[in-house]
Amino acid sequence: MRVAVVGVQGDVEEHVIAAKKALKNLKVDGEVVATRKAGVVSKSDAVIIPGGESTTISRLIFSDSIADEIVQIANEGKPVMGTCAGLILLSKYGDEQVAKTNTKLLGLMDIWIKRNAFGRQRESFQVKLNVKGIGEYDAVFIRAPAIVKVKENVDVLATFEDYIVAARQNNVLALAFHPELTDDTRIHEYFLRMSIR
Ligand code: GLN
Repeated sequence: MRVAVVGVQGDVEEHVIAAKKALKNLKVDGEVVATRKAGVVSKSDAVIIPGGESTTISRLIFSDSIADEIVQIANEGKPVMGTCAGLILLSKYGDEQVAKTNTKLLGLMDIWIKRNAFGRQRESFQVKLNVKGIGEYDAVFIRAPAIVKVKENVDVLATFEDYIVAARQNNVLALAFHPELTDDTRIHEYFLRMSIR
């Protein structure tokens, strides 16, 4: 299988490494490619949108066909994962910061998000979560967004304080934290198994 990591900005290489490790652990033949060019995502079996700056990533993917290609492969039922800024981009309903910055969203999940939900005092932190389908998981949050509300077709996978921090809608997975920044590849394995089915 071919896994594409949207490589316009953010923690791209870390996702490439984590996805490669996950393929190996699952004993699945495949390649992982970072891409900033049109025509790669549409030919992939799964795509990852990394964390970074949602405003920048949005501008860059909507300035060529990458945004359309992500929507296309999601509609084909292939797995799409967004982490942190990627979660913001997957959502249908942004907050006032998304509106103020005119950030275009992919709108693939029926979720309402809040950018920088955990405030300035806690720019980054690590916390143990209980993630549905995975179990106890040490999660790294960096200026993280959160999900504040979901429609009933969205499966909530993890919560922290008053927020939803991991959710799945069919073949689309959104995480507020950074699974690529720890050695634990269980989230990437879970994601890749969504395509093996
Ligand atoms: N705060 C960033 C944003 O709103 C996301 C942070 C991250 O991806 N680490 O785009």
